[in-house]
Parts: sequence; structure tokens; C-alpha cells
Amino acid sequence: MITFYPGPSKVYPEVPQYVREAYEAGVLSINHRSPEFMEIFRRVRQLVKEKLDVPDSYTVVFSSSATECWEIISQSLVSKKSLHIFNGAFGEKWWRYAQQLVPATESIVFDREELPDIDQILADNADLIAITHNETSNGTALPGDWMKKLRKQFPNALIAADSTSSMAGVALPWEAADIWYASVQKCFGLPAGLAVMVLSPQAIEQTQSLGEKGHYNSLLNIYDQSQRYQTTHTPNVLGIYLLMRTLENRASISEVNTQLTKRFTEWFIMLQNLNYVKLIITNDAVQSKTVVPFQATPEVINQLQEQAKEQGIIIGNGYGELKTTTLRIANFPAITDAEIHQLMNFFANFAPEKLSH
Ligand SMILES: *Cc1c(COP(=O)(O)O)cnc(C)c1O
Repeated sequence: MITFYPGPSKVYPEVPQYVREAYEAGVLSINHRSPEFMEIFRRVRQLVKEKLDVPDSYTVVFSSSATECWEIISQSLVSKKSLHIFNGAFGEKWWRYAQQLVPATESIVFDREELPDIDQILADNADLIAITHNETSNGTALPGDWMKKLRKQFPNALIAADSTSSMAGVALPWEAADIWYASVQKCFGLPAGLAVMVLSPQAIEQTQSLGEKGHYNSLLNIYDQSQRYQTTHTPNVLGIYLLMRTLENRASISEVNTQLTKRFTEWFIMLQNLNYVKLIITNDAVQSKTVVPFQATPEVINQLQEQAKEQGIIIGNGYGELKTTTLRIANFPAITDAEIHQLMNFFANFAPEKLSH
């Protein structure tokens, strides 16, 4: 089976071999306070920075999921309130979680075909602006230029970017945000249960000045421990090990970005020319390169999914309000060019059947 589901998604084919390796080397039973674990932590942090081209001054820590990052951010980085700017289901979910923890939390909802006008954004008193860099539910992404402008307009607020379905897939404008995070079951091509958080010096300063230590996942504690390559509790050692092993064999993010963009373009042009589907995003400037959604009638959606399945291809369902009317295709690094071509062949040969009544 080839899966184009945008999360959990295809894992790198080397994963079983790395799991066996971890087992044989005793990593699965390793003491997380041991020098061996600390060495893995040190190395994986270095690899994330090197392969993803993270600025030297930023730091890398771990949590268990993107959802956990939502809570960590409200708990450990927000003193007054956060302002959430979103256009889809994941951004909205984040806002709802944040509101549970900080009731004053605000939101701005924008149209998925447009970018919010930065001059119109009022962020008074918000100490953090929350954005979804790549909205997995509707296949939109925030362009680097827009993010840089936001950074410039609000130099005193922290900016947090959910990049769960873009980190490790596309090159990120790191300096345009202070907190970036992603769980690893999307572009990292790994099994779920681990998230990577990338933090600017300003984010660390804010954690230190708030001094929040009332939660097991206090970011201040996570950061302090990480300075000694340690964690606050027994972490997902296998996940961290798999992250290390897969990153060792990865091309640099600029190469990955080029490869994904190239096949996105091929696939996208093909979709534009198919008469039985319609793109849901028509503004190229906001189209995601890693998650490509399209619309079709419910009958065509059923036929596509069923016939694809017969050929060993899994196409992703829609998500949130788009669940039944759209399909989504992941363009993640663990998917090979050959697999994308097989998918394109399937679409080229597909002819919707007329329904008999
Ligand atoms: C998948 C996803 C999440 C949720 O990730 P979990 O690991 O399940 O917490 C959050 N945000 C975005 C944009 C996602 O794509």
C-alpha cells in the first residue's frame, strides 16, 4: 500500500531496520539519564539544526505532539493573551485549546483564498501571535514574505507558527517566528508520538521571565533540562532515535524543498486539467506545497478512493468542514517520485462511472 494520507503518513522504509538496530543496541531500554541518551539528544539537536538550516541562536526541544505544544505555549509563554489568526480547522482547534487556558485569547479568521491584511491586525496587549504556517485541513500555507512582514509589524510580540505539516518538507523562514513546532508523523516521515519545537532566544527569555513551573510540561523545565541534554520525564527514546537515524540520511532542506516543489508543480498542473475534480484553492500565492486538496462530487470521491485502494493507493480524506467534499494528497519527503508518478497515472486513467438509478 502507498499512502498519500497527510498524517499519519508514509514512514521512511528504513524505519523497521532502525527499530531493530535500536533494539539490538539496547536503545529501547536505555536509561534516559545516561550519557548514551545524552549523546543521542545532543546529536539529534545538532542534526535538526544542520539539516533543517535552523539559525544558530535557536534551540531545539521535544514534546509528544503538536497538540501538546498548543498547551505548552499558552501555559509557559503567554501572560496576557494570545491572538490566533487562522483560516482552517487546525488553527481553530489551537485557538480553542488556548481559550480554555487563557480566556482572554482572541482570534481573527480569514478567507482561505486570501492573506490577512497585516495593517488591519490589532494585536494590542497580545504577547503572542499564533499562526498556522501550513493549514493541513485545507491545503493553504502562509508565504515567507507575509510572515516577514508580520514579524516587522509586531516586533514586541512573540510569534508562534504551527508547522506540523511543513517543517522538514519546505524551507522555513525561521527568523520570522519565535516558536515553530511539528509532530513527526507528517513531513519527518516517522511514527507519531514525538514533536520537535524550535525556539528563538526571545521565546526562551519570555519563558524565563514568566517562570511558569506549574505543569509537568513547563517549557522552562523542558528548556533547563535540555541544556544538559536531558528531559523532564522519560521521553519517547525510540522516536528520538528514529529522528536521529532518518535525519542522518536526509538531504539538506533546500534540496528537499526543490524536490517537493518540482513534483508539486507536476501534480498541480495535472489536477488543474482534470475535468472530474476541482482545486479548492485557486490563489497560487496561498497554495500549500505539501498538502494538496481538491473537490469532487461525493460519488466521484467514493469511486476515486475505492478504485485507488484496489491499486494499493490510499488517498487522504478531507478534514473538518471539508471532510466529505474534498480529498487531500500529501506531498511529503518520505513519498518517492515514483509513487507520485504512480498516483498521477491512476488519475490520468480514471474515468468516473455514471451512476445508474
Ligand atoms: C496534524 C496536525 C496537528 C496535530 O498533530 P498531533 O501530533 O496529533 O497533535 C496540529 N496542527 C497541524 C497543522 C497538523 O497538521
